[in-house]
Amino acid sequence: MSSNSKVDDGTNIFPVPNHTLPYWRSDLHEIDSYRSTEQLPKECDILIIGAGLSGVSTAYHLLDDNPSPPSIILLEAREVCSGATGRNGGHLFAPHSYVDKVVREYGVDAARELMLFCKSQMFAMKSVVEKENLDCDAVLTRYFETCLTQSFAEEIKKHYDEQLKIGLDFIQDVDHVGPKHAEKLSGVKGAKGGTTTTALQLWPYKFVTQLLACLVKRTSINVQTHTRVLSVSNSDDGWNIVTTPRGSIRARKVVFASNGYTAGISPIFENKIVPIKLTCSHISVPKDTPSPPPHLSHTYGLNFDGPALRDYLIPRPDGGVICGGAKSTYMKGDKNTWFNNFDDSTLIEQARSHFETVMQDNFLGWENSGAAVDYLWTGIIGYTSDSWPHCGKIPRQENHFILAGYNGAGMPLIFLTAKGIARMIREDLPFEESGIPRIFKTTEERLKLDVDR
Ligand SMILES: Cc1cc2nc3c(=O)[nH]c(=O)nc-3n(C[C@H](O)[C@H](O)[C@H](O)COP(=O)(O)OP(=O)(O)OC[C@H]3O[C@@H](n4cnc5c(N)ncnc54)[C@H](O)[C@@H]3O)c2cc1C
Repeated sequence: MSSNSKVDDGTNIFPVPNHTLPYWRSDLHEIDSYRSTEQLPKECDILIIGAGLSGVSTAYHLLDDNPSPPSIILLEAREVCSGATGRNGGHLFAPHSYVDKVVREYGVDAARELMLFCKSQMFAMKSVVEKENLDCDAVLTRYFETCLTQSFAEEIKKHYDEQLKIGLDFIQDVDHVGPKHAEKLSGVKGAKGGTTTTALQLWPYKFVTQLLACLVKRTSINVQTHTRVLSVSNSDDGWNIVTTPRGSIRARKVVFASNGYTAGISPIFENKIVPIKLTCSHISVPKDTPSPPPHLSHTYGLNFDGPALRDYLIPRPDGGVICGGAKSTYMKGDKNTWFNNFDDSTLIEQARSHFETVMQDNFLGWENSGAAVDYLWTGIIGYTSDSWPHCGKIPRQENHFILAGYNGAGMPLIFLTAKGIARMIREDLPFEESGIPRIFKTTEERLKLDVDR
């Protein structure tokens, strides 16, 4: 028997207990700490590690509309959707500001493929919300990327013009807003320019838990929360042995949907998918405020000084706001606060004062609103050296599949990547026929690239 995993010596990467409380988890679903059976089953066709958007979407695509469904076990170290998916901005759009980099490094076809993929994701998620009746506040809207510096406004305009010139078809859905109207249209004080594009906002925890509840109701999926995978090894008879503190399971195939924690159970990803700690907040306005703020008509990006220091904001239908980012408050300080850090049980306190005034400082009419932070939390993303996730069959490992490492922007990538992984497994397809963008394929070559320390 050969082991592919690290022995747990206490320094290993894993989802820690007592995680900070995100707004999204303020209203828990009955499936949150669910176990289908008291004991772990002995074996299964497919074992999925991680019950975030990646793991649950993979299970969905493996089981939905499948007349001969495989036996599936879903193992989750903590509660359902307690990782990055339960802690993010609840927001997806096709991030066209990446396009120039993709064109430069991989060519125009790869850029077109990526952007159309991101775009179709929004409609695919909207469709499943409708098909499965998921009550998750899904709103199809427009994302307003605003630039607060002249230099970044000029850069955005230059990129937009280049993308028009290349003739990338997704650009039809992007609208450039010049300096003349940027502030008025966005409501963002001092906006020097920007772009708008189609976006979907939703309550990610409700999407994931309700989708999983549908599967539990109508399929034989076995869900086991509070069951951390310690190691995955191969036995001589071709099975994988998945070890947990509650016993071992034999699995024909294993799907690593463990995002920022993947290196803890698949050492091949050590320094290839690195955990990074981010922070996010929920801001609310007192009901009796004498100065109610205007309705926010979009979701927003606030580029204080280029995309590396961007805040993102999602107005909630109840008048609250989700705001994430605040990177300028902590990323230039002690790197251990966030880099190679998988501890989401503590806050990044430096961010609090930024979030406390972000609405008053940046939005017209919010100055006297009394808006204040009522939830502040942290979460762990998986960071890769080339900014793209690792997806597909893991090289050198028999029957191991992965979808992880989305670099803080997994929402527009995951649902259809999971569909592609499910197709690879269900139909025994090569990666190239899975529908997943080519640049996400995990390869020996990409596995040589370490994340810079
Ligand atoms: C603060 C923050 C804000 C973000 N904002 C946005 C945003 O606005 N837009 C966007 O697109 N993306 C955003 N992201 C990124 C996005 O949340 C992620 O890309 C996405 O949720 C990843 O989903 P996942 O299912 O792959 O990972 P996760 O949701 O992290 O799920 C992985 C699961 O695997 C489990 N697990 C890991 N190891 C083990 C193990 N050994 N045994 C058992 N279970 C294990 C974990 O407990 C976890 O539940 C943000 C992330 C953070 C942290």
